Amino acid sequence: MSTSLFNLAGKRALVTGSSQGIGFALAKGLVDAGAELILNGRDEAKLAKASEAIGARQCLCLDVTDHKAVRSEIDAFEDRTGPIDILVNNAGMQHRGPLENFPPEAFERMLATNISSVFNVGQAVARHMIDRGAGKIINIASVNTALARPGIAPYTATKGAVANLTKGMATDWARYGLQCNAIAPGYFDTPLNAALVNDPVFSDWVQNRTPAGRWGRLEELVGACVFLASDASTYVNGHVLYVDGGMSASI
Ligand code: NDP
Repeated sequence: MSTSLFNLAGKRALVTGSSQGIGFALAKGLVDAGAELILNGRDEAKLAKASEAIGARQCLCLDVTDHKAVRSEIDAFEDRTGPIDILVNNAGMQHRGPLENFPPEAFERMLATNISSVFNVGQAVARHMIDRGAGKIINIASVNTALARPGIAPYTATKGAVANLTKGMATDWARYGLQCNAIAPGYFDTPLNAALVNDPVFSDWVQNRTPAGRWGRLEELVGACVFLASDASTYVNGHVLYVDGGMSASI
């Protein structure tokens, strides 16, 4: 198969939450595949450091939970700089705690960060993609889309919703030439998971529970992202691609 199917030269990609962790790794992978990157996060200094590290030309410093700001910033950004061809909705958060005592304000913040953001940025960017009759949207779900674990029920709920919103996006927007899919990562070592990585009992559990026998490496998410961002996936729509070392395939 020709590697040109995966070539992203001439494409512009926005990755939300790309100042660190999975978003940064995906942004770097998309740059390596030829795309021009637009980084996003809420912290200017972190974004400047990340863009220097991967040679990204543009940053959108923006809180993706703010629907009004997202709409106006994306519209202005497209007018000023040109089309966003690829959107990766990656920004997300975690808050762990027993469901019976889970603070309602943390629940609301998680809904806003993990699922409303996908609606906000997805809708704002898709309106322009629909006008152009082409576009790629990749939402970052989780192995918790399919499976719960003690202490993360609200997170599990949001990631289930990300998968279903992905299917809804595909159902509404495939007819306009968009492909909307999700990647569901297993356990990866990022700042979001620092408490788990540093807990030997949890880390042993991950290694024993994952058929691959180890945590994921960030670069192992890149192939799935490039595939879903490229011409290699023009008839793939509404799919949730698990990149989890086989965790969701086994009990
Ligand atoms: P990190 O906490 O390491 O990074 C989160 C990123 O999102 C940061 O760049 C942060 O920047 C940004 N961010 C958070 N809130 C907002 C906001 N409201 N507006 C804009 N940017 C925001 O997380 P990970 O890299 O670990 O996770 C990334 C995604 O992958 C999440 O959706 C997560 O649920 C998912 N995931 C992670 C797994 C893992 O093993 N790590 C496994 C499965 C899924 P800043 O705070 O500066 O704004």
